[in-house]
Amino acid sequence: MIKKELVFATHNVHKAQEIQAILGNQFSVKTLTDIGIDEEIAETGEVLKENAFIKSSYVFKKTGLNVFSDDTGLEVTALNGAPGVFSARYSGAQKNDSDNINLLLKNLAHFADKSAQFHTVISLFWEGKHYFFNGYCKGNISNQKLGENGFGYDPIFIPEGYVQSFAQMSVKQKNVLSHRGRAIKEMTAFLIS
Ligand code: IMP
Repeated sequence: MIKKELVFATHNVHKAQEIQAILGNQFSVKTLTDIGIDEEIAETGEVLKENAFIKSSYVFKKTGLNVFSDDTGLEVTALNGAPGVFSARYSGAQKNDSDNINLLLKNLAHFADKSAQFHTVISLFWEGKHYFFNGYCKGNISNQKLGENGFGYDPIFIPEGYVQSFAQMSVKQKNVLSHRGRAIKEMTAFLIS
């Protein structure tokens, strides 16, 4: 079988492996490092869609290859959608998960409404045409950190219908529910149709 190559505009090998597992062996997922792009692509957009587009279009213009990129934000209702596109650097340029969580818990402490959602946007260039895919996961922010797994805001995000946080779930269980998993499934359905 001839595998179709698809570049994932990231340097994160772990994310690329996750996506390779979902796409299956019809596709061969390459990272930026695999195709010789070593620089970080600056995320200068003001919304998730813009950042996702910046990363994939940079690679498409440079290489002409089939490529996709993703951008994710945690949108908290009581904070008018913050930290949103700034999720990675909510507490500052050091991009520290623990600092981000502590700041969010502090800012949300006096609100009764703890509802939030993760939102992932995927931007895809496929055979020269451009597409967007979205994935959402609704839930609530807990009052304290729960669990050790995952990354980012996982210890304080409890998906709707569950009592455990993402950080108390296995990777497999999280992938079924997660914003990123859902956006990837949308893209996969398109690619294999
Ligand atoms: P990225 O666009 O996937 O790099 O995500 C931006 C930021 O959102 C990350 O640095 C994390 O703080 C947060 N984030 C994204 N996805 C997740 C997730 O699945 N769990 C927890 N936090 C996440």
